[in-house]
Amino acid sequence: MSLKRVYRKIWAIVISGVALFFAILALGGLPEGKPSLDIRSPYALLLLLPIALCAWAVRTTALKWRCEHCGALLPTRMATHCRKCGQPIDLS
Ligand SMILES: [Zn+2]
Repeated sequence: MSLKRVYRKIWAIVISGVALFFAILALGGLPEGKPSLDIRSPYALLLLLPIALCAWAVRTTALKWRCEHCGALLPTRMATHCRKCGQPIDLS
């Protein structure tokens, strides 16, 4: 998988996790007729889903967000070159 696809995949996971989190919070009170999610209700277990998505994003970053030349973990902020080997990071 190219670095660009890894980059897109990580962001897709993060964005869907955040969207799911807020959707669950916003809709969470509906089954019980409350204005917002009660963290003690069984419905709150759905929050494990966005937590799992975040864990998946962290795992994908740790395993695949790596330099294609030397395999070093790349910085999470946008960088143009690998810190270890100095090769350019190709996201095109
Ligand atoms: Zn490198």
